[in-house]
Amino acid sequence: MLRSAWSIRQLVVNRTIGQRGLHATTTPFPNKLAFAFDIDGVLKQGHHNVLPQAKRVLELLSGSDGRLPKPIPFLLITNGGGVPDEERRAILSEELGVELTENQLVQSHTPIKEYVEKYKNKPVLIIGGKGESCRRVAESYGLKYPYIPQDIIAWKPSIWDRTELTNEEKSFVKTTDFSKISFAAALVMHDTHDWGRDITLILDLLSSNKGIFGTRKKGYDKSNFKGDVELIFSNADVEWRSDWPIPRLGQGAFRLSIENIYKSITGLNLPFIQFGKPFKSTYDFSELMLRRYLKQVNRNSNGELNVYMVGDNPLSDIDGANRHGWSSILVRTGVFNDNNGELPSHKPTIISDDVEKGVEWAIQEEIRKGNY
Ligand SMILES: [Mg+2]
Repeated sequence: MLRSAWSIRQLVVNRTIGQRGLHATTTPFPNKLAFAFDIDGVLKQGHHNVLPQAKRVLELLSGSDGRLPKPIPFLLITNGGGVPDEERRAILSEELGVELTENQLVQSHTPIKEYVEKYKNKPVLIIGGKGESCRRVAESYGLKYPYIPQDIIAWKPSIWDRTELTNEEKSFVKTTDFSKISFAAALVMHDTHDWGRDITLILDLLSSNKGIFGTRKKGYDKSNFKGDVELIFSNADVEWRSDWPIPRLGQGAFRLSIENIYKSITGLNLPFIQFGKPFKSTYDFSELMLRRYLKQVNRNSNGELNVYMVGDNPLSDIDGANRHGWSSILVRTGVFNDNNGELPSHKPTIISDDVEKGVEWAIQEEIRKGNY
């Protein structure tokens, strides 16, 4: 069987790589190199299928197979989410066969963790995810008063009478008198299961007086609709690939709907904060995580870092990497398909058949440039 990445043996250092007792200082090692991997379409295809190339690459980079004298830092950046980072990390570690540390996974909502510090002691409406999974994400970020739409419906079913709470939902709602609760923000953390309900509740809050349901902002007038509640989205993907062959609508489509309704009611642009790929906040946060990881493994965390983003989506992975000054590797194992000679909407540094070939090229490239 051809295992192309094993030519890394010759590429990275020399034939002695992997032998016990090798000192990194005696061989060229790409010290400035780091990788950021998208998950879906790069490491995995569909919900459960981990690509064998991905396993081999992560074993190599993490140093767990002994072929590198020290690990090459990497992290995973996904626009997915909806479960606490720790849970997702445990699942991915198991699936991918490498132990991921807390600095090696950025879900769409992970950068929000530090942004929402200011809302720690304030009520926040959490949108998206199954059941109360995103409430648990919010709690894991230190938010003390995260409420979900089902809590609001349980308080006043007439606020949205198109759907009734299921018995399961009734079991986890927090019974509260929301006539006295002043929401500071609405935080969309994942795809929502009930767009009508959630758009209505978000618009209610944006037009409310001090974030209280059932109120209107004082002096409310359609040309002056700026509300008291901040609106935050974790992911801007309009479409995404599930196991269904045709792309499905994602959180970006949900945001577009709210923007259009808001505009038609007020004539104004919706004020919101956006996280996720390809936005700067997510790449800044990821670079910070890579440096924290280097510190964690006792490596220089302040030096120059040459990050290579490996992704399958030109619109998110590649656009974001290019904007952030990272190198970018577009793979053919996901949404991007150039069988028909199609050019990517955002030009990567290189197009590669898969993650293994891409990583091999990047290591070679760093050595070629003398970055060791
Ligand atoms: Mg992808």
